[in-house]
This record gives sequence, C-alpha cells and structure tokens, in this order.
Amino acid sequence: MNIVILLGAPGSGKGTIASRLAAEDTNLKHVSSGDLLRGAVAKGTPAGVEAKGYMEKGALVPDALIAQMIKDVIAETEGDVTMLLDGFPRNVAQAKILEETGAPIRSAVLVDVPDSIIAGRIAGRRTCPKCKAGYHVVSLPPKVEGICDHCGTALTIRKDDNPDTVNDRLVVYHRETEPLIQFYKDKGLLKTIDGDQGPDKNAAAFKAAM
Ligand code: AMP
Repeated sequence: MNIVILLGAPGSGKGTIASRLAAEDTNLKHVSSGDLLRGAVAKGTPAGVEAKGYMEKGALVPDALIAQMIKDVIAETEGDVTMLLDGFPRNVAQAKILEETGAPIRSAVLVDVPDSIIAGRIAGRRTCPKCKAGYHVVSLPPKVEGICDHCGTALTIRKDDNPDTVNDRLVVYHRETEPLIQFYKDKGLLKTIDGDQGPDKNAAAFKAAM
C-alpha cells in the first residue's frame, strides 16, 4: 500500500479527480476525510457528534479525531493499493501524524485553482449522498437534473457549501493547509497540476503527475 496526497483548496476538484480515477482502476482507493466525517455525523457516532459543530462553521475538527479515522483506514488497507488521500492532512501536525504511521507516501499533488473561481465552483456543487459522485450544475451536470447518473439517488447540496462558510473554509485553507505545500516540497514529494482544465483533463493531469 502507498499513499498519494491530494492538496488543494475546498472546491479545487480533489474529490472529483480522486473518485474518477478510483472508478477506473481497482488498485486506487479514494479516501476522503470529509466523507468519513460526514458519515460519522450521519450515523451519530461519538466522533460524529463531536465533529458536527466544527464542520458547520467551516473550522477544522480536532486533529486526534480525524487522525484516528485515517489510521483505521490505513490499518485495514492491504495489498497492491494506492490510497488517494483527499482532505488529510490539513495542517502540519496532521502531516506528522501521517508520517508516524509509517505508511509510504508516493507523492503530494497540489490541484491548483485560484480563489477567484472557487466560490462559483462551490455554489454549483451537488453530491450524491449514496455513492458520493460529485456534479456541478454548469460544468458537470448529471444527465437528469438533480439525479445521480450512477445510482439514481437525488443529489444534495452540502450544508457547509454556503457562501459564508466557504469564505471561512478558504481562510482556514490558506492559514492551516497551505504550509503543507512547502512541507512536501522540502521532502521532494510535491507535484502541481492546473486544476482549471475541466474534469477530464484535470483527472488525466493528476494521474500523470502522481
Ligand atoms: P471536505 O469535505 O474535505 O471539504 O471537509 C469538510 C469539513 O470536514 C471541513 O471543513 C472540516 O470541518 C472537516 N475536515 C475534513 N477533513 C479534515 C481534516 N483533515 N482535519 C480537520 N477537519 C477536517
């Protein structure tokens, strides 16, 4: 097992890229920290109850809470698998926790998208609550409006995808997560792709870079 880290702002397209690549290749496993947390909130587990308030504000949940979830997934992942780790680490402390697991990190790929286009992307974002497929009302619409192409479930809008929370999440990204770009550059693991090429080219560029 090895790990490819997806770096990038909220709305940069990390989840779309990872879920596309994982759908094409069974050796790739998409692990999204946000999906793990939303699953825990929906189930009402103790971790979910603790995480909910932070997530609604667009703040980061405590490092130990999300780190334990990621460690559990790493522990249960065996064989010839590349984990596409989306949303973790989110700060340098989490990056160090990840290193301590000993799981080999193959690369950290930054999906680079300017803030000026993030707001429009997030405003149109729709997600399948069942299979987690991502859509956008303009750039990546489902075949039937409001319905997932893959499983027929009604698409939803994430609670934290409202303009106020998006701004807070961008502030958190620049303050907490952006230092990871230098962190992984110093380790010789950083790759960067232009995340504004459209879903197909973004995914292809990521695959080539990772
Ligand atoms: P995402 O789906 O990656 O945009 O994450 C949604 C929300 O989940 C974030 O705004 C945070 O509140 C929380 N979250 C996800 N990943 C992490 C992480 N690695 N550390 C702390 N909070 C996280």
